[in-house]
Amino acid sequence: MFWARLRLFLQRYWLWVAIVALLVVSIVLPIWYMSGMEESVRRYIVGINVASLPWGILQTLVFVGFLYLLQYGGGFARFKKSRVDAGAVSTRFTDVIGLMEAKREAWEIVQLIKDRAVLKKVGGKILHGMLMVGPPGCGKTMLAKAIATEAGVPFMSTAGSEFVEIFVGVGAARVRKLFKQARQYAKAYGACIIFIDELEVVGKHRVFMDAFGGSSESNSTLNQLLVEMDGLTDEDSNIVVVGAMNADEQVLDPALLRPGRFDRKITVGRPNLQERREIFEYYARHIALDPTVDLGRLARKAVYKTPAEIENILKESALIAVRERRDRVTYKDVSAAIERIELGVVHRLNMTPHEREMTAFHEAGHLVVLYLYHPTNDVFKASIVQRGGTLGVVHAVPREELYTSDANTLRAHIKVSLGGYVAEKLKYGVTTDGVSADFSHAMTVAHNMVWRLGMSDEGLVGDFTRIPKEQLSDGLKEKLNNATQRLLQGAMVEVETALKTEGHILERFARELLAREELDYDEIVQIFMEYGKPPKPLPSESSSQPAFPPRPANSIPEGGRDARPPASTAPRPANSIPEGGQDARPSDSPKQT
Ligand code: ZN
Repeated sequence: MFWARLRLFLQRYWLWVAIVALLVVSIVLPIWYMSGMEESVRRYIVGINVASLPWGILQTLVFVGFLYLLQYGGGFARFKKSRVDAGAVSTRFTDVIGLMEAKREAWEIVQLIKDRAVLKKVGGKILHGMLMVGPPGCGKTMLAKAIATEAGVPFMSTAGSEFVEIFVGVGAARVRKLFKQARQYAKAYGACIIFIDELEVVGKHRVFMDAFGGSSESNSTLNQLLVEMDGLTDEDSNIVVVGAMNADEQVLDPALLRPGRFDRKITVGRPNLQERREIFEYYARHIALDPTVDLGRLARKAVYKTPAEIENILKESALIAVRERRDRVTYKDVSAAIERIELGVVHRLNMTPHEREMTAFHEAGHLVVLYLYHPTNDVFKASIVQRGGTLGVVHAVPREELYTSDANTLRAHIKVSLGGYVAEKLKYGVTTDGVSADFSHAMTVAHNMVWRLGMSDEGLVGDFTRIPKEQLSDGLKEKLNNATQRLLQGAMVEVETALKTEGHILERFARELLAREELDYDEIVQIFMEYGKPPKPLPSESSSQPAFPPRPANSIPEGGRDARPPASTAPRPANSIPEGGQDARPSDSPKQT
């Protein structure tokens, strides 16, 4: 093993070894030779040499400069060196929080790497490539490192973007170099893992019909990758390539997914409630968190958040606590951090009292409808503090991770969106342009329900957006649009009735918002309790959640159901609401496809 590692060292750093050896020889030899001379001659020789030193250096620089110009055509673009981190890592499986399912599959891969010799004897298929798919920030890199650590093999990490170059062949050369290095490591340590992040950057579908050769560079890079992966069948190379990507693997060139290449797949998804709790606990160790903070509640609030986002939230909350000159991070700080990340920093406007009051009624309208009539969402916060481009917000979170929405839920989204409009209308008789974002959301949901999901009362079934608009008859279009409008009208009538019945609650919340500016979940529930309206029970408290709920989305292969959860939490960017947007409801804007 020592000799193998020495060889690896020489292979990697032979140039440095040679330079050092040359320097030593060129210093030691003259000294040894001159020691036999007379004093005056020695001084003479040393003097001449020192005097000519600057000239020598200058000449060398000019020579090297010309060499570069000749070789690289004057451009410095290729000075960029591809970045490959290599070596031992020390991330254990226990350091990867959550991801139970992905860890289980990863463990199997660790075993496969360890039992290669046995596997070879038995004649089983040897693993060469593995794909990790999932949203960014969910711990793919960490899991890959953990596989390397647990299998006890070196870990080489690079990213797809490192192979993207303008010149044809440069990317391919990098791929070659990467695998050459990996083979050296594999020889020295018995096996090696290559981790390629952002695989989709190099692994996109190859383009063959490009008259100008515009894509031949990425094609040649991908081809080289395919060739290298096929070369891994050699007896001596125990190399496993782990590719990670954020997008769906459909964007990859099918050749990459063929047997012998990336034929294993691990989904690294967003953490569920229990996992989020563990992640909060893990990162909370690094900050001085007040012991009264209920991490379970935070985990519920952070539905669909990735581990990286949770870490970011806790770091931000520590900043807030420091700014407020407290030495402990409280629940309020964490809550404020979530809002700052999702909605932007507080940005106070000089509003007239009347405007503030209207905003308060608008938000109270959302709040009451959400709390009383939404089957799956909870209100976590209501505020009339201006942030980014919004004047106020009713912050809703899904009470559990749902992967589908039924018609009732979608109708509830519409009703909540219309709550602000109806409240303004009931209170003042006129409405403001602050409803534009709400309407756009409500319209989107209603349009999807009628045009795409067969949820209209008229019994129109099918996805009519699949058919080009000009192929739909005017009559049908009119029918669809009427159905959409009827859906919205119906929802509005319901909201009107509800808010009229609960007018006193609406009034109360508007006053509370004006007085306190922000209301937290507890405060909101307390007020509703005064009116005899307890909160809906949390699903995690009423029933024990299975760790891995069956995902119905799997049963529909592609393009079918829009897998809602990730997109649905995307906070609406503040600048999408031009001005006077009174609302940014981050949790239930549906994904449009
Ligand atoms: Zn609104």
